[in-house]
Amino acid sequence: MKYPAKKLYLLPAGRCLVDASALDTRLAPGRLANLPIWSYLVETTDGPILVDTGMPESCVTDPEGLFKDTEDEGLIVPQMGSQDVVTRILDRAGYQPRDLVCVVSTHLHFDHAGGNRMFPDTDIVVQRAEYDAAQAQDNYFDCCKDPSLRYRFVDGDLELVPGVTLLSTPGHTPGHQSVLVKTEKTGAVLLTIDAAYVRGNFEDGVPFAVKSAVDAAKSIARLKDIAKAENAQIFFGHDAAQAIAWHAHPLHY
Ligand SMILES: [Zn+2]
Repeated sequence: MKYPAKKLYLLPAGRCLVDASALDTRLAPGRLANLPIWSYLVETTDGPILVDTGMPESCVTDPEGLFKDTEDEGLIVPQMGSQDVVTRILDRAGYQPRDLVCVVSTHLHFDHAGGNRMFPDTDIVVQRAEYDAAQAQDNYFDCCKDPSLRYRFVDGDLELVPGVTLLSTPGHTPGHQSVLVKTEKTGAVLLTIDAAYVRGNFEDGVPFAVKSAVDAAKSIARLKDIAKAENAQIFFGHDAAQAIAWHAHPLHY
């Protein structure tokens, strides 16, 4: 790899209680799992890139408000402190919003795009299919699909900068994307994001919360091929065991 990214940081962005049936749809609802929420910072030769912006700031003071009177009331309960607001997270990593090359939005769910409004002057790189789906569907929150933000639309795979490749992985949502990062220290790291919540979804085919099961299975098969070809380490979207085993900021990959 000629021009890898310099460093990949895993940035903890709070936790979320989610009904365990979302991680394994064969389970009966009724037990909440405590899941990690992540942002990621990639330092590249072009500058720093932030991947995902965590949950909306309103969850700090009103964790139940976001899902009140929705079908997910009581099934998704954000656990967010003021330190988990994305600008605070970014500040701890040594950057301000104006420093970023761009923000990558992997998809427009509340726990991935909840802080996007804090980047009104930054390009937000999102799959066009995801943005269109979010605008067409009322199960996306307004704060995650604000049309006044500065979007840069992508259709399919894209090498965003040397060492950072966006991979179209629909299924969980219509325009979901995963991210392949190649760093000087570690080589290839595949961030599946929500193409697989946890290891079991990826390795054992455990069914989880997706918009299209057919597309989700195709996306996982594709990511497996890419991970093998790139000899990549794989980091899953919300895997509690991996959150303990891997190193978060200030360590890096
Ligand atoms: Zn999601």
